[in-house]
Amino acid sequence: MAETKIEWADFTFNPWIGCTKVSPACANCYAERDFDHRYGKAKWGPNGTRVLTNDANWRKPLAWNKAAAESSTRPRVFCASLADVFEDWQGPILDHQTYAQCLIDSEPSRFVPIIPGVQELGVEERAAGWRPVVMDDVRNRLFKLIDATPNLDWLLLTKRPENIRSMWPAVNIQSQQQADDYNELGELFRRNVWLGTSVEDQKWANRRIPQLLKCRDLSPVLFLSCEPVVGPIDLTHVLLKESEAPELGIPDVSINCLRGWYGAVSYERAKIDWVITGGESGPGARPANPDWYRSLRDQCQSALIPFHFKQWGEWVGLNDTEAQLSLFAKSDHHAFDQETIVYRIGKKSAGRRLDGRFYDGFPQRSVV
Ligand code: SF4
Repeated sequence: MAETKIEWADFTFNPWIGCTKVSPACANCYAERDFDHRYGKAKWGPNGTRVLTNDANWRKPLAWNKAAAESSTRPRVFCASLADVFEDWQGPILDHQTYAQCLIDSEPSRFVPIIPGVQELGVEERAAGWRPVVMDDVRNRLFKLIDATPNLDWLLLTKRPENIRSMWPAVNIQSQQQADDYNELGELFRRNVWLGTSVEDQKWANRRIPQLLKCRDLSPVLFLSCEPVVGPIDLTHVLLKESEAPELGIPDVSINCLRGWYGAVSYERAKIDWVITGGESGPGARPANPDWYRSLRDQCQSALIPFHFKQWGEWVGLNDTEAQLSLFAKSDHHAFDQETIVYRIGKKSAGRRLDGRFYDGFPQRSVV
């Protein structure tokens, strides 16, 4: 876990490994395929395991932060590619090597494994403050690390945006900038965190985007990862249903999340600052209609929102390939209608040009 091949990030960091599928976008989860089925590092699902990554991994962001300060750059760190930072996991946290349950002592960032039957937690240890590590402990450790690395922009991408606020600790102030932000923008605002949610179709846009917009006061950048897209998405008509967010206390309403919406929590003008999209790769990859990407691009362009086309994935539209045309002849194809046919030529051949050009938009920070 370090330098990444993801086009929109410079590094990846995983605080733990393991997750549970929550929506159609998870169907072909590559993290489960590789780290559960192939390598057996963690077990996915509600009865699975969540495995802490090692201390050497946790030290890497400190080194990236130091290098960034020396080079006056701001690397983007994608956190987490093998988990969901905002998963509501009640089970034990396991150690990466022994797979034994971790314990925490009264010094909250010190985690050690305990092996049932070999070591037991006695009365004295409990009296001294030892107890099992829970996911909140790891999340707090992560946010301390985030606060200690102000030269990195941390991209937290979740499929559970409804949990963000309740799992979001106050900033650990360690710099004058953080102190200034605390005074001006509140104890929850983190200048170096970009908050994103995954949106694969309109149904999940309607469910997740309003929850993300409620986090306007936490982060300078709110973004969407529409990848893999499995249906058309209209970001200008996101339906916020009262039944799905009764805490907001407003009736069903359609919002244009690219223009702004006055959220119920911060009452700031909340909008999406950046949209990423792309297709699926790997075994079982589902074809996407090229018009779904074009529509997102056009919506962003008309609202002046940065748009990033990450990749076609396995399937590509006829006019949008850097590959040899002869590849088409031997490829699987899928017809959305008579004129819209996509071909399975593989991620590498498919490339990442949409209608002949690259879209590499990145956001400016919104003023909160
Ligand atoms: S949320 Fe992400 S890591 Fe978790 S199962 Fe879904 S795709 Fe995999």
